[in-house]
Amino acid sequence: MRTFDRGIYKTSKEALKAVFGYDSFRPGQESVINAVLEGRDILAVMPTGAGKSLCYQVPAMLLSGITLVISPLISLMQDQVNALNEAGVDAAFINSSLSEKELNDTFKNAYKGHYKIIYVAPERLMSEGFISFAKSIEISMITVDEAHCISQWGQDFRPSYMDIAEFINILGKRPIISAFTATATQNVREDIICSLGLNDPYFLVTGFDRENLFFQVDKPQNKERFILDYIERHRGESGIIYCATRKNVDSLYTLLRKQNISVARYHAGMSNEERKQMQDDFVFDYTSIVIATNAFGMGIDKSNVRFVIHYNMPSSMENYYQEAGRAGRDGLNSECILLFSPQDIIINRFLLEHKDFSDIDPIDAMTIRDRDIKRLQIMEGYCYTTECLRNYILKYFGEDPKKPCDDCGNCLRQFETLDMTDEAKKIINCIYESRERYGKNIIMDTVLGAKTARLAEIGASKYKSYGVLESSNKNLLRRLIEELLLEGYILTGEYQVLKLGDISRLKNTDTKVMVKITDEDKVTNRKLKPKKNINGMDSLTSAGFKLFDKLKELRLEIARAEKIPP
Ligand code: ADP
Ligand code: MG
Ligand code: ZN
Repeated sequence: MRTFDRGIYKTSKEALKAVFGYDSFRPGQESVINAVLEGRDILAVMPTGAGKSLCYQVPAMLLSGITLVISPLISLMQDQVNALNEAGVDAAFINSSLSEKELNDTFKNAYKGHYKIIYVAPERLMSEGFISFAKSIEISMITVDEAHCISQWGQDFRPSYMDIAEFINILGKRPIISAFTATATQNVREDIICSLGLNDPYFLVTGFDRENLFFQVDKPQNKERFILDYIERHRGESGIIYCATRKNVDSLYTLLRKQNISVARYHAGMSNEERKQMQDDFVFDYTSIVIATNAFGMGIDKSNVRFVIHYNMPSSMENYYQEAGRAGRDGLNSECILLFSPQDIIINRFLLEHKDFSDIDPIDAMTIRDRDIKRLQIMEGYCYTTECLRNYILKYFGEDPKKPCDDCGNCLRQFETLDMTDEAKKIINCIYESRERYGKNIIMDTVLGAKTARLAEIGASKYKSYGVLESSNKNLLRRLIEELLLEGYILTGEYQVLKLGDISRLKNTDTKVMVKITDEDKVTNRKLKPKKNINGMDSLTSAGFKLFDKLKELRLEIARAEKIPP
């Protein structure tokens, strides 16, 4: 077996400075590196931009053998290897972009001891050539980057990540295993530990708060106008504008070009060369703004992005925080603005309902759909909430912030409050009357007196509560329910069913339920139009009916996108 000299650096600090040119570690980095050097397995959960790469690159310089880094995207690998090479570190990658000859050259160089770090695509691990190569060199550490890809609960599950454990078993001598991800939810963590067979890992979760990011949700009448004004106020700054569809990207791009704004676009419908060009132009500051679908970003290492605007609401908080988190990696103040319209919800739901699960086990498909619907609801909550936006995010990622941040769109906004005690009692009655069996949407639809297929099915029109809040505003009711949950008057049970909590306080006539209202609420605070039931579809789909053609286009686009890797 080929073994190597210990790296030339004595301490991790020395390697940090000499190789990467940094003077100090960021929070968490040093503790992970020390644990690796003690020979421990690692699970590190750190937000995007926190500096996970250094947590395995620095110890790789100090360990005696090679560090294998498993990474999900070819472009990501290439960028990292280029950066390492530029820093004078001999690194290589092994993936499907290599020719037979390049692959053999890489193996040969590795035998000669040229590399400290080799990136490898998960699909490659179990190939005969790679296994025999891996058995014949000294592997000190296997790093699993973007480790959430191993979990069905993660946002981008990759079946080939499941091969990693088997690959490790085949090796004979077990190296250190370190896993890194930005996905913090409990399910994903457990999956990573189990699937990789981590052995009493050093576990690190750094705070998910990004203090230099300013969060805001805006509901402009005209999103294009908003964006033009925003750019005008932020001339010369670098920013990303995310759109849900290629069509949105193209039309916004055309609009900005007409205004002589320095802008590029990026989506999966463009050729590889075009996309590479656009990405380089942006990264090297030839263009200051890029308009993109969510295909853009993984592996983009641009530190001076000053704003990330979402033209549409993403489908989950995970996606939102990851995309918004591309702002301000250099630690300077930056803004994350989500432009929201209720149409975003309709489109997202429609897409979820029509997602093609035909090649997935039906039970899995149900679980995944269920999960996606919950995620979407949480994302919707972010758009409607009047609570501190930063806290909303942090709570979702499992933190327990003690007070509002005083520095987000909601904290800085002047709200008026509205006494909704009467409405609160009606909602509570409705939950009671329907015997605590339904979730937020059905309860709301019932008191609003909506005519949906689902309500018909459960016979809601027989309830006394049916239609008692007919003339209320749906957004306000949604917020009222949030407030009731926050105050503990109601609780959520299994499957998001609403249950009664401690309502005794409400019997006291002095107790009021106050809900914050915004200017937009006043604009939209009018009687809801009666809903028509088109062909027995529920209200959501019938509201979406008008969007049908648009949606068909969307589905086509998605089908196309799925064939072309991002
Ligand atoms: P992650 O993988 O956690 O999203 P990266 O490893 O890509 O983050 O690092 C994000 C950025 O932070 C990179 O530009 C990286 O060079 C920089 N960085 C990481 N660690 C440090 C440090 N200790 N000092 C200064 N910059 C750092
Ligand atoms: Mg990373
Ligand atoms: Zn706040």
